[in-house]
Amino acid sequence: MEYISTRNAHEKRSAAQAIVQGLSTDGGLFVPAEFPQVTLEFIDALRHMNYPHRVASVLSPWLSDFSFEELLTLTKKAYTSFDVPEVVKTLEIENGLFMLELWHGPTLAFKDMALQLMPHLLSACAQKVGESREILILVATSGDTGKAALEGFHDVPGTAIAVFYPEQGVSEAQKLQMVTQEGKNAHVIAVQGNFDDAQTGVKRIFSDVKFADELDERGIVLSSANSINLGRLLPQVAYYFSAYADMLNQNAINLGDKIDVCVPTGNFGNILAASYAREMGLPIRKLICASNANNVLADFIKTGVYDSNRAFHLTTSPSMDILISSNLERMLFELVGERDDAVRTMMQKLKSDGYYKLDTQAIGTLRSFMDGGWADESAVKACIRDAFEQDHYLLDPHTAVALSVLKAYQKKLPEEDTVPALVVSTASPYKFGRSVLEAITNEAPTGDDFECCRKLAELAEQSVPSAIAELPEKPVLHTAVCLPDSMKLALSEAIQLE
Ligand SMILES: *Cc1c(COP(=O)(O)O)cnc(C)c1O
Repeated sequence: MEYISTRNAHEKRSAAQAIVQGLSTDGGLFVPAEFPQVTLEFIDALRHMNYPHRVASVLSPWLSDFSFEELLTLTKKAYTSFDVPEVVKTLEIENGLFMLELWHGPTLAFKDMALQLMPHLLSACAQKVGESREILILVATSGDTGKAALEGFHDVPGTAIAVFYPEQGVSEAQKLQMVTQEGKNAHVIAVQGNFDDAQTGVKRIFSDVKFADELDERGIVLSSANSINLGRLLPQVAYYFSAYADMLNQNAINLGDKIDVCVPTGNFGNILAASYAREMGLPIRKLICASNANNVLADFIKTGVYDSNRAFHLTTSPSMDILISSNLERMLFELVGERDDAVRTMMQKLKSDGYYKLDTQAIGTLRSFMDGGWADESAVKACIRDAFEQDHYLLDPHTAVALSVLKAYQKKLPEEDTVPALVVSTASPYKFGRSVLEAITNEAPTGDDFECCRKLAELAEQSVPSAIAELPEKPVLHTAVCLPDSMKLALSEAIQLE
């Protein structure tokens, strides 16, 4: 199986090479030269497998540099720290409406699905391509990605991780999650600035050739764990197959029946993985791309114009507060018939003018399998309240965006055209306890985030997940603080180069 760059289709890599490299040197993203195909028999066989087995089966045709046994060893290592034995849960909350709960991992959000596997995969890929240096992962985080990456990489042989977070730009719980991180190879550094300062600082370290040489002398090479790496994208394809197998096991569908899938979308990684599953042969009728008030994608699907020149809104679903969705580039490449020159032109236009337009034929192709919509803050609140009152089900705000958009989409259809629908649930409601409690009680909560979670648990007759409940008692292990200009120095000190 070969991978090519979206900006230069002649740039070919094996899966292991593409994962170790991350981004193509031309700035493009690695995409499959062709999509592996599976049969309905393949899907049927997944019904009787556990989650690690399902993931290894789905990944196998994508990662042909690995044997099935090798992949199974990696997936078995990855999916051990989840709080339900099935790893992901597929739950019917209303007739024909299924929630795919992807937040049973250590950080209570769906990023664990990829970031628990990716470090093991990266380490194995490095071995395959003969990379013997230690891989140092650098992350700038506005909250959730940093913790998920720390959890995934800690104590994985051959890797180390350094996370920079803005001292004033993350919630108390998010900060606690990071500074209490255990693991010999994990470094957490506060930056006295905002997220952009941290992000800019990390980019500067990545482009510092002299520093790269110094690291190289010590046997270290820098890499990144963000969602444009194939190693993060591919593990996400697997859970769509797993959900379909669960729905078969629950006798909700027959083998081959089509379903609709609705995904709360930010950087477009999760929904792209769903479309890759569809390309492989998973019976998906429509993908529904759900946005919050930052509705650039909803407009794009409607008009074919991607226009990031607009007001940025802070919402209760912060992981979707994004105006430039990097993974969309991979979808564009397919939509324009794999013409790398067309992708280059659009991405150039996005960089210089903040917008681009897709040609009419490509928009038609996109709309044949994708619908889009968005939910404002009051719709999100109402959706959380309704789901709790009607179904006794707690939704986090990101998932509520998706459910709200799905319901609006289904209303537009004649009733006989409704098929079973899967809503991708991306975070535990307790991760956003304050917003969820506020939506349900319809008043501003008093007390800190932990107090909100306790009240929420009481209302729902559940207990607060231990990953949150235990946080205030954990020892703080990381106290480093630096100015945006001295991030490189702080990193050197953390990894004891100085
Ligand atoms: C990251 C994230 C998203 C957005 O996913 P993308 O792959 O970036 O589209 C949605 N919900 C939650 C809770 C997230 O953490």
